[in-house]
Amino acid sequence: MARKFSFGATRLMRTPSETRVFDEADTLEGLFVTSSRVESDEPISVVGIAESVHEGILVKAKLKTRWHGECVRCLGEASGEIDVSVIELFEQGADPEGETYHFDGDVIDMVEMIRDNVVLELPIAPLCSVNCKGLCQYCGADLNHGRCECDMAPKDPRWQTLETLRHEGSESAGNAD
Ligand SMILES: [Zn+2]
Ligand SMILES: [Zn+2]
Repeated sequence: MARKFSFGATRLMRTPSETRVFDEADTLEGLFVTSSRVESDEPISVVGIAESVHEGILVKAKLKTRWHGECVRCLGEASGEIDVSVIELFEQGADPEGETYHFDGDVIDMVEMIRDNVVLELPIAPLCSVNCKGLCQYCGADLNHGRCECDMAPKDPRWQTLETLRHEGSESAGNAD
């Protein structure tokens, strides 16, 4: 069986303007940033066309998959879709500029291209929903499930105690003689 996300380019290289379509779904490991990831069993759909151009092989592809992560506001499950279009040039041999992908022999391997572009789309600060209310900063209750007791007392009681102590302290200091 052929390597995943790869195709032979012999005919493409031999014939200018020759095209080849591809439509593949497979998994990749190690797609993550600190706060979100594509699960290693989550299929990534890669649909597109490769075209033989003067500089090499031009790959136009649509990458689709799902990401999962932890909501930065409520720490609950967050997930969403990645749907990105990419256009990348594959050149034969090493590329001194590093701005294109390169291939040796006659196989175009799109794994690095897919990896780079999917990781760029992963959210740094995922949200379970744009309307997520987050956790109460005082008691930690998930405000998406309703209000908490702290609603009634806007200030943390511990800070109120401290205020009282500070007030009393300054009073007694003023009276000390
Ligand atoms: Zn949330
Ligand atoms: Zn609360």
